[in-house]
Amino acid sequence: MTTSRTPAVVNGQDATTGVRTVQNYIGGRWVAADATRFGEVRNPATGALVARTPLGGAADVDRAVQAALQAFPGWRRTPPVNRVRPLFKLKDLFERRFEDVARVCTIEHGKTLEESRSSVRRAIDNIDLAVGIPDRMMGTALEDIAAGIDCTSMRQPVGVFAAITPFNFPAMVPMWFLPHAVACGNTFIVKPSERVPLSQAIIFELIHEAGFPEGVVNLVNGAKDAVDAILDHPGIAGVSFVGSSPVAHYVYKRGAEKGKRVQALGGAKNFVVVMPDADMDRAAAVSTESCFGCAGERCLANPVVIAVGDACGPITERLVAEAAKIRVGDGLEPGVTMGPVISKEHLQRITGYIEKGVAEGAKLLLDGRGFKDPKHQDGYFLGPTVFGEVRPEMVIAREEIFGPVLCIIRAKDFDEAVAIVRKHELGNATSIFTTSGKWAREYRYRVEPSMLGVNIGVAAPMAFFPFGGAKGSFYGDLKAHGRDAVEFYTDKKVTITRWF
Ligand code: NAD
Repeated sequence: MTTSRTPAVVNGQDATTGVRTVQNYIGGRWVAADATRFGEVRNPATGALVARTPLGGAADVDRAVQAALQAFPGWRRTPPVNRVRPLFKLKDLFERRFEDVARVCTIEHGKTLEESRSSVRRAIDNIDLAVGIPDRMMGTALEDIAAGIDCTSMRQPVGVFAAITPFNFPAMVPMWFLPHAVACGNTFIVKPSERVPLSQAIIFELIHEAGFPEGVVNLVNGAKDAVDAILDHPGIAGVSFVGSSPVAHYVYKRGAEKGKRVQALGGAKNFVVVMPDADMDRAAAVSTESCFGCAGERCLANPVVIAVGDACGPITERLVAEAAKIRVGDGLEPGVTMGPVISKEHLQRITGYIEKGVAEGAKLLLDGRGFKDPKHQDGYFLGPTVFGEVRPEMVIAREEIFGPVLCIIRAKDFDEAVAIVRKHELGNATSIFTTSGKWAREYRYRVEPSMLGVNIGVAAPMAFFPFGGAKGSFYGDLKAHGRDAVEFYTDKKVTITRWF
């Protein structure tokens, strides 16, 4: 991301260009950040500057923590049935502004409008789940743990939590955490990716309208300095992080050193195994969507197909044909099935990987380099790219490219396919295509990635189930949403009682 020195900011607007500088939302008010450096937010389809992100640090974070700390005792004392009322209102506002949020998401991220809509729907699913907290937060009790002595375990909120989130799902990922944390009685701070601050800016307009008490929910914009300030702040009890694996590890370690609860969801390199008995047409269509959806910028994308034995010829042919059908362009335009990648720098990085794949001897079956959208010459576009004859040790098969590049590896049998998956240090998600229940069960049993698709390309995050990977894709133990959210955002108070 490019950064610039202080623009002339007047009431949140850059006075010289009219480009919006996003504000923080602290203690129930929109406030200018205490920043001297600003990140540029560009529409990836056009290259146009659409906003600036203030790259604030410790002062902004401290302001938000003080507001959240002040709000905590009152919010904690608010009965759970009352705490969920602003969430019901938020749900209603989200439904009404659904298209606006989806549109902003596409403008700042580049994914197609349909993809943005799906992600906004998944954000709302988390509100739907969180409003059930009066039931989900209940504890347990046992009479007569000894004669005349009873024992109860009650869930209590912990304090101030923060979420630090990535660029690839600007509207959805913060909502994996926020509704659950506040429904449990905690107060909250969101630090969105500095590359895509606008979806949260519009969502916080809804949060403002929803009627949470001041300081219960706060928004701080920034990059590394803000993250470090969150990790070090003694007023923050826990952190939910989503992003790349090196940063996830860093956040987990530094946060834990400061005594915080941390759940850190990291990067991915996901494999899809295609067995010779699979329905090849379906496997190809679904795997193509899995790899190229959101221009490959998905932690659940399956960018490596392991074709087992005789599956290799038929699946390769179909994957290339399916990929060639993809229509690249501005995600706001109807009919476009793949948008641009996030930035010029990321485009160059992905192109570098394609060059590396060619140099390593993989066979380039479809080359997306040089794609130009005649309407948007300055957009960060890349066509779908497919490599055949990839070997597991090649860089393109090992590293997370996070772009529209598909690699096909041939494995001689099921065992070899399993060994390739198990050998990789990451383990976010994986899929298998087969018509045999035995192979599907065996695959689930033997591979580590925690999100598994059987004849499904993307084992998508369901609000009511836990979500998070394994191995180097996840640091922590309690995952995002599902029942784990209640575990992560509450403490269990055990009381043993005897009355004389
Ligand atoms: P990123 O790690 O660069 O950034 C994530 C967050 O960390 C941002 O808020 C950013 O400001 C902050 N950050 C970045 N560098 C930092 C540093 N050096 N020190 C402290 N904080 C820092 O990730 P990204 O590029 O925004 O997102 C893409 C990555 O996220 C991919 O690796 C993808 O697989 C992963 N991801 C994982 C999941 C999951 O569920 N496991 C979901 C979405 C994305």
